[in-house]
This record gives sequence, C-alpha cells and structure tokens, in this order.
Amino acid sequence: MSLGGRDLSETLEEFLGLCARAIFYLGALVVLISTGLLVYTCVAIGSDTSNVGQMADAVRNVGIFQKMLVVGLVGVGIGSSYLFWGAELLGAIQIMGAAALYFAPLYLPSIIGDKQTDATKEAYSALQLGGTTIGVIGLLVVIADVAIRIQQRMKTGAKADQLKYGKGIKEEAERQNVLLGKCWQLPFCRKFVRERCPIYLSRRTCWKELVGCMCEEQVIRGAMENKPIPKDELLAANYIPHNHKLTEAQKKERCYSCIIYNEHQKHKYKIMMPATVLTFVGVWVGLHGPLVEAVTALCEKINVVVHGATLGHSGNFKPPEFFVESMLGVFMVIGLTYAMKVIEFACFKIKI
Ligand code: SF4
Ligand code: SF4
Repeated sequence: MSLGGRDLSETLEEFLGLCARAIFYLGALVVLISTGLLVYTCVAIGSDTSNVGQMADAVRNVGIFQKMLVVGLVGVGIGSSYLFWGAELLGAIQIMGAAALYFAPLYLPSIIGDKQTDATKEAYSALQLGGTTIGVIGLLVVIADVAIRIQQRMKTGAKADQLKYGKGIKEEAERQNVLLGKCWQLPFCRKFVRERCPIYLSRRTCWKELVGCMCEEQVIRGAMENKPIPKDELLAANYIPHNHKLTEAQKKERCYSCIIYNEHQKHKYKIMMPATVLTFVGVWVGLHGPLVEAVTALCEKINVVVHGATLGHSGNFKPPEFFVESMLGVFMVIGLTYAMKVIEFACFKIKI
C-alpha cells in the first residue's frame, strides 16, 4: 500500500526504528543513572548501622534504583535487539554486560570498599537482578538468532549470491530427495538430462567426478542430441566427459557454487544439527555430575582470584546449587548455539 508516494511498510519500519532508538538511548541513560546511584549508595553509606532511619531510607532508595535499572535494561535489551538484529556479537555483548552486572558483588568491593550493611547487600542484589534481566534477553536473542538461521539454512542452504551454477533452476516436478543421496537422487536432477547422463547411467555422483549437468556443456549437449549411452554401469562410465582445461581445485570451486552441491550440503547440515543437539543433551545428562563439579570449581576459582586481588575484601563465595545448575544451563545453551554456528560455517562457508 502506498502512502503519499511511500510504501506503508517503509513508513512503519522507520517508525519502529525511531521507537527502538528512543527506547535504547532512554534505557541506556536510565541504566547509567540507576547503576551510578546503586554504586554511590554502596560508597556513601557508612559502615555504622546504628542510624536506623538513614539505613531504612537507603534500602528504600535502592528498591527504587533497582526498578529503574530493570526497566532501563529491558529498554536497552529490546532496543539493541531491534537496532542490531543479525549482528554477530549482539547476543554475546548483551551476555557480557549481564555477567559484568551479575558478578559485581565479586569485584566491586575491591574498588569501592566492602561494607556489609543492609543497603549495600540490597544494592548488590539489585545489580545482580539487572544482570539476570539483560542475561535472559541476551540468551533469548542468541537462541532466536540461531533458530532463524537454522530455519533459513535448512530451506535455502548457501545464500543465493554464492551460487553460480544452476541458479534459477526449479526443482523437478517428480522430485526425489534422498538424504545424502547421489546427485540423481536430489531434486535438481532433470529427467530429460538424467536419462542420457553418463553420471546417472554409471550410478556415480557428479561432485565426485567433478563434472555434471550444471557445469559441463557436453553433458547437456549429449542429452539434447539424444546421444546413445550404454545402460551398463561400467560401459557408461567411459562416457563421462573430462575437462582438462581446469585444475581439480577449479572444478571443486565450481561445485561449491552449484545448486546441486548446495543441496548435498543442506543434507549434511540437516543431519549435523540434530546430531549436535543430541550430543549436547547426552553430555548434559551423562556427564551431569562432573559438569556440576567443574562449574562449582570454576566459581570457587574465580572467587579465589578475586579474593586474592581484593586482598581478602570480597569474602568467600560458596555457589549455591541452583546457581551452579543455572550457570551450567547457560554454558550449555551458549556452547550449543556457537557449535551450531560452527556447523553452519563448515557446511556453507568452507563447505567441508
Ligand atoms: S549430473 Fe545432473 S543429470 Fe546427471 S545424474 Fe547428476 S544431477 Fe542428474
Ligand atoms: S558443479 Fe559440481 S555439483 Fe554442480 S553439476 Fe558440476 S560436478 Fe555436479
């Protein structure tokens, strides 16, 4: 639909962009102010707990700053996700920001001094709540990003601009699509070529022979001219054309940008994806005990390092069970999403 010469969807997109920018910058401002006020509360509040009225005021203020921080982070999370959607590091930066807030009680006392008052405890838990808020958004962003990529790759495989051979060729009406099948078991093998194709008649695979119907004119010409080829597999193999003008590497390069090989890669991807998920689930269930121990040891190690760096100011941190399980869950989800990105890279960029 057109609105004063402009497409309605463009206007809507622009409006949403403006809203996202406003939410992002306002949210960032609120986060800066509330974090600053929370840290200031920790600095300014005295260790003297006898002034009950002042402490109660400080605790009340921390409650307000906490609400500001959470609302601001939701704004930053939603705004940045809209504005930078698709950027490789979006989710990772959000999760790093979450970690910086969540682990504030570990490193902040070394900088501003450790005061064990009700107000400082509340302030630290407010920062941790903020970390959890942006962490959940970051995690959802990473999961959604990977899920959308998987869906697109399953459907189209490599991006259209990477394909040169067979571009625009439609799938056959009587298509067959055998998982990890040979070229003639895939949807782009055209019936009229196949019946006179030496690759099919010899029951071989074009990308293994480095010659096929999308890249060698001779294969198509043979089919058009109805050139007779023996039905016997061994004899038909003698009719596979050889191109001596190109090197092996050049021929492989042709396959990497061919619609048929792309289909083959899609099949590999479709197998590797669930296999990776199952492997992660298997490791999670099968090695749950050692993994919990490893995460617990990691948390304690971080605490020892921080404890040393703060000359003993930060206190001993004993990670509760729920915390360790949550951390393990977060590590597994992040590990899985990045493993999927590696598979995508392997199948569609370097084309293993
Ligand atoms: S080279 Fe082409 S026509 Fe021949 S079998 Fe393979 S996909 Fe079919
Ligand atoms: S470029 Fe490779 S995959 Fe495509 S038809 Fe030729 S040999 Fe087969």
